[in-house]
Amino acid sequence: MTIPIVKSPGFRLERHGLDLRFRSVTLVERERIAPDYVRVRLGGSDLAGFDSPGCDDHMRLFFPTGPVSSVEELRAAPSREYTPLAWGEDWLEVEFAVHGDEGVAAPWADSAPLGSMIGVGGPRGSQLIEGTPDSWMLVGDETAIPAVRRFARALPAEAPGRIVIEVKSAADEVWIDAPVAVEWLHRDDAPAASALIAFLGGLGAAARPGADPFVFIAAEQTVVKPGRALLDRWDIPSGQAIVKGYWKRGEAEYHAPH
Ligand SMILES: Cc1cc2nc3c(=O)[nH]c(=O)nc-3n(C[C@H](O)[C@H](O)[C@H](O)COP(=O)(O)OP(=O)(O)OC[C@H]3O[C@@H](n4cnc5c(N)ncnc54)[C@H](O)[C@@H]3O)c2cc1C
Repeated sequence: MTIPIVKSPGFRLERHGLDLRFRSVTLVERERIAPDYVRVRLGGSDLAGFDSPGCDDHMRLFFPTGPVSSVEELRAAPSREYTPLAWGEDWLEVEFAVHGDEGVAAPWADSAPLGSMIGVGGPRGSQLIEGTPDSWMLVGDETAIPAVRRFARALPAEAPGRIVIEVKSAADEVWIDAPVAVEWLHRDDAPAASALIAFLGGLGAAARPGADPFVFIAAEQTVVKPGRALLDRWDIPSGQAIVKGYWKRGEAEYHAPH
């Protein structure tokens, strides 16, 4: 009789709920760190107690199209999902990929006047890595750079790992503080995610960075299928990986399944 080998993972992802709060904040500062990538600093006393324990947490930002006179009006404004990058008692930093004139969030980040008010809802929950992966693989496009920055800060430097990011061209590369060199892929004029899809498709079993890796893949939605296929090839249980579409080509206000 063959005894099945039951893999006992050195870590797993666990969900934790957070108290859902809605906050009003204003735009305090804008820094253009690449031609189509901006970091904004939001400020306000409502941010007291803001917390985001999970590296790929998201909050909902609400963008009113004109002046608002009540919290209810702010809550009714169009909203989009963003990653909290860094925060303190009365400030919060967020990074935005700017993708032209379409949409509400990217144009706001690109050109809203300082002092503009927006709403912040959440994060409403976090996925936390409980235990220690022996290696890691972080893959994304520009919308995932904030989450990648947070994972890169949190993962142990000595474990083998790779960070692979797709942007349009060399001009779109930004500094990421990480224990390994970031590998940049350029899609040039090809559709978003195509360079990542080719990269993921080329990763065979031997490319697995360790026995028990943590894998994070987030980019334009077409990355999800090849991302899940990679997990199958590497025999990684879904509880040890995050594979998410962060936006969808041609679709406004895309809601990623959580
Ligand atoms: C969990 C999570 C975390 C996220 N964190 C961040 C983050 O920290 N920073 C960040 O920049 N984005 C992040 N995103 C992605 C962001 O929510 C979307 O890009 C969002 O759709 C942008 O809203 P918008 O109003 O600018 O455009 P929308 O009104 O949603 O879309 C208008 C048009 O623009 C297209 N579009 C949307 N986003 C992009 C893009 N990035 N490039 C090219 N075309 C696009 C749409 O396909 C649509 O055709 C995150 C998404 C999720 C699900």
